[in-house]
Amino acid sequence: MRVVTTPSQLASLSREWQSSGESVGLVPTMGALHAGHSSLVDAARSSCDRVVVSIFVNPIQFNDRRDYETYPDTFDDDAEMCRRHGVDAIYRPTAETVYPTGYSTKVHVSGLTDRWEGADRPGHFDGVTTVVTKLFTASRADRAFFGRKDYQQAAVVRRMALDLDVPIEVVVCPTVRDEDGLALSSRNRRLDTSQRTRALAIPAALADVQRAFDDGSRDPSAILDAARRRLTESDLVVHYVALVDPHSLEPVTTADVGTVVLVAASCDGVRLIDNHVIELRSRAVGSR
Ligand code: AMP
Repeated sequence: MRVVTTPSQLASLSREWQSSGESVGLVPTMGALHAGHSSLVDAARSSCDRVVVSIFVNPIQFNDRRDYETYPDTFDDDAEMCRRHGVDAIYRPTAETVYPTGYSTKVHVSGLTDRWEGADRPGHFDGVTTVVTKLFTASRADRAFFGRKDYQQAAVVRRMALDLDVPIEVVVCPTVRDEDGLALSSRNRRLDTSQRTRALAIPAALADVQRAFDDGSRDPSAILDAARRRLTESDLVVHYVALVDPHSLEPVTTADVGTVVLVAASCDGVRLIDNHVIELRSRAVGSR
């Protein structure tokens, strides 16, 4: 497994592979890798000849300086996980390499970024789309793999790639959860045992929404009131809980199969996000 640190090293590695007919898959990450990340690597492994994982804590996507400064750095463990999952190269640039003195360009996707994470975290998505554009350009990947856990991010990146004619297929993979239902996240490391238990209100709220739908509720405000209550009862600060159209991310007036529940809530300052796509479930007679 190679570790490369500059865009030109990454580009020449990709060129070398692609000139011998091999396809390249890219998995962009900020490190502190967990099984959610390795599921993206596995998906890349199964459909690409070569896999590159980028590990870069992107300063311009953090609107909270403390969040950036305390973001976990576990490179040795990350490299070991990459090796175990058959990664061919890690791209690990420094912030100075990605944004050298004089750097002046931003990539902005409008519309899809107006609400939810975009509204709560000003500048966040510009940071994401800027760095992802740079990763796409340097890696020349054939496919790039993102997690559904960051639903809005995946939609924004897909839009950006489409709008800019980027010849990379954006693949979105399912959310990986712990056994108790909490979506894996690098930020979960900041939760102690009791905070973690309180954070379980997030998957519980998502399950409440699905159950309400199964029981015939279609009115977003009634469905969301119950979900919000579930979160506040666990002393979580609710940033938003919404039922949205899966493509436009605009709030819906009626819940339907395919409608997405988006949640962002903080547990003692640790901001967590999650989502669930409403499914058609047939209820067994007498089941709850
Ligand atoms: P991050 O390192 O948090 O920027 O995440 C890098 C990629 O991993 C993003 O595409 C995330 O959506 C994805 N990811 C993070 N957590 C999970 C998870 N629990 N399941 C699946 N993908 C995830």
